Amino acid sequence: MLAPEVRAALIRLALEMRERAYCPYSRYQVGAALLAEDGALYGGCNVENASYGGTICAERTALVKAVSEGARRFSALAVATVNGGSPCGICRQFLYEFAPNLHILLVDSAGIVRAEYSLRELLPHGFGATFLE
Ligand SMILES: [Zn+2]
Repeated sequence: MLAPEVRAALIRLALEMRERAYCPYSRYQVGAALLAEDGALYGGCNVENASYGGTICAERTALVKAVSEGARRFSALAVATVNGGSPCGICRQFLYEFAPNLHILLVDSAGIVRAEYSLRELLPHGFGATFLE
């Protein structure tokens, strides 16, 4: 389980990242904080685009930043939205690639944890590399 101070740091970073969201179309600010197994934290926000399909979510931003910095193993993710929103389907799949057992905290804009899940709960029977062997 997450140590209280790590949990607090994850939530704090997700809230900070939420402030950086670029979301002029949806106006739904999302911040994410990803905890690597070595203890490093990676943050991300949603970045929308006038060509809507080019939009990237906060969760994938954080994961892309982390992987591009050399991290490959992750243990927890906090996602901050106004109302404790849950990761979209694409993000669930994207996270499953690296961390099928990821622990996920969904927090609101006040930092209150609205729900906690494992990624396997959010994406049961996920598609992964073993199907491609
Ligand atoms: Zn998403």
